[in-house]
Amino acid sequence: ARYEVFSIGMRTQIVSRLQLENELRRAIAALSDGTSQEFLVYYQPIISFKTGKIAGFEALIRWQPPGKFISPAEFIPLAEETGLIIPLGEWILKEACLQLKSWQKQFCLESPLSLSVNLSSQQFSQPDLTERVEKILKETKLNGENLKLEITESMAMQDVEKTIASILRLKALKLRFSIDDFGTGYSSLSYLHRFPVDTLKVDRSFVSRMEDSSENLAIVQTVIMLSHKLGMDVTAEGVEKASQMQILRELGCEYGQGYYFAKPLNSEAATALLAEQPQW
Ligand code: C2E
Ligand code: CA
Ligand code: CA
Ligand code: CA
Repeated sequence: ARYEVFSIGMRTQIVSRLQLENELRRAIAALSDGTSQEFLVYYQPIISFKTGKIAGFEALIRWQPPGKFISPAEFIPLAEETGLIIPLGEWILKEACLQLKSWQKQFCLESPLSLSVNLSSQQFSQPDLTERVEKILKETKLNGENLKLEITESMAMQDVEKTIASILRLKALKLRFSIDDFGTGYSSLSYLHRFPVDTLKVDRSFVSRMEDSSENLAIVQTVIMLSHKLGMDVTAEGVEKASQMQILRELGCEYGQGYYFAKPLNSEAATALLAEQPQW
């Protein structure tokens, strides 16, 4: 048997993780008394390839403790592990609903704008999720119709029967669903048709490699065809170039999201972009 040496490196890692956790706890606690300015919801446009216009936005959380910027890829997993994602996720959902309500009031929309909100695994497995969402819709006076929830493929696959039941309960409130990061998890194509979802989001990793290999192009093409056969529409993530948009359009993909169109924007910038759109 060998003994693992508890190295200085490991110690530093654990200490900084604990520090981050404490900071996160403090920042989230400050949300409920309304004193926190550290969290902001950003909004990234989702473009319709048919009209070339903004069809909706995805809400993405930003955390900026004084003098720092911590990526969601770093603190969301920590928030998940510690359960802090529950109050944070609820705050994000409420903020997003308030924003959508405000856009609906401000702009006379030709076609309704949708807002997609990421659900974490812990949130999705809450037994009273439907009631919580219903409460937020009531408080923000928002009709559920234009709200979309994104769940990842791996979340959906954890317990298929439970997933279907949860989606159906939320769909009774008119909400719609997307499967996020499609292609990166333990996808089981034989289950996909059982999920009552509206949209499939093709992960950025496939989009970015589409032009380098015919295999990746074939995957994207197949995913789009399959989605359409199952009655879902497709959003391509991480569109960074005109050439990628062109290919995706030709493959029949309906929506695109990525730096080519816009980065995630703060509320004012997203509102300004909407105001610029010729249709309004
Ligand atoms: P995601 O849900 O797959 O979100 C898309 C990510 O891709 C975002 O990163 C977005 O800024 C980035 N992105 C969009 N277009 C491009 C592009 O053209 N090129 C590149 N390189 N990146 C692009 P972000 O905001 O850093 O979020 C990372 C992940 O953190 C998200 O991945 C999601 O899993 C999680 N996350 C972010 N906000 C929330 C939230 O409000 N709730 C939950 N539960 N998770 C969130
Ligand atoms: Ca997402
Ligand atoms: Ca995604
Ligand atoms: Ca992703």
